[in-house]
Amino acid sequence: MSRRGLLLILSSPSGAGKSTLAKRLMAWDPSLRFSVSATTRAPRAGEVDGRDYFFKSRSEFEDMVAAGQMLEHAEVFGNFYGSPRGPVEAAMSDGRDTLFDIDWQGGQQIRNSALGRDVVSVFILPPSIAELERRLRGRGQDSDAVIAGRMAKSQAEISHWAEYDYVLVNDDLEATFARLVTVVEAERSRRDRQPDLAEFVRGLNQEFEAR
Ligand code: ADP
Ligand code: 5GP
Repeated sequence: MSRRGLLLILSSPSGAGKSTLAKRLMAWDPSLRFSVSATTRAPRAGEVDGRDYFFKSRSEFEDMVAAGQMLEHAEVFGNFYGSPRGPVEAAMSDGRDTLFDIDWQGGQQIRNSALGRDVVSVFILPPSIAELERRLRGRGQDSDAVIAGRMAKSQAEISHWAEYDYVLVNDDLEATFARLVTVVEAERSRRDRQPDLAEFVRGLNQEFEAR
């Protein structure tokens, strides 16, 4: 049976674990399409252009926005980030789900767009602010100044928790991941995401009548 693709949006303050959860979800179901964002920020060590992000200059990014190629875009921590529209529309028309790792501004824009009814949004909270800072430091990829900037923005990001369909406190990673999988499986089973159901039940009825 075919299924209407859903747009799974993960947001959290930086360091709460959404990239880790997103990667696990992709490994759990390789049919999920990860929305690779465009960004004007510099690549971190180990990041690959086209896999983690499309790394763009400011003017390249502005051209994409002007050409209507972004489903949403926002300024985060002084850089621009945006979700290219094309791959999302292609996944939707194939009945595939798309996973977004974007901030609350992007979540709000997609929720308010024509694709809003296909959105399932999940907000990830850290178990504490001390642990959030430990995770940011433990990731070992950002300078003290960048970490301080991200911590300063965390409170504002967290203030948007109530705009999300689901909220998970990422204490134990395994337990949080298991709950995320439960959310995805439940949302995939929604009646309105299964356009072939009426036809399927018609088939069941024909089987009844043939008995
Ligand atoms: P985000 O994408 O939200 O900025 P990351 O997924 O990069 O955060 O996670 C930040 C750091 O915290 C990483 O080093 C990651 O391995 C670690 N981490 C993620 N989830 C947990 C967890 N539940 N318990 C302990 N460490 C975690
Ligand atoms: P980072 O620089 O740590 O990869 O990401 C910083 C923040 O930008 C994270 O909160 C991340 O979710 C957000 N982000 C990444 N890509 C996009 C995007 O395409 N659009 C929006 N609105 N936010 C994004």
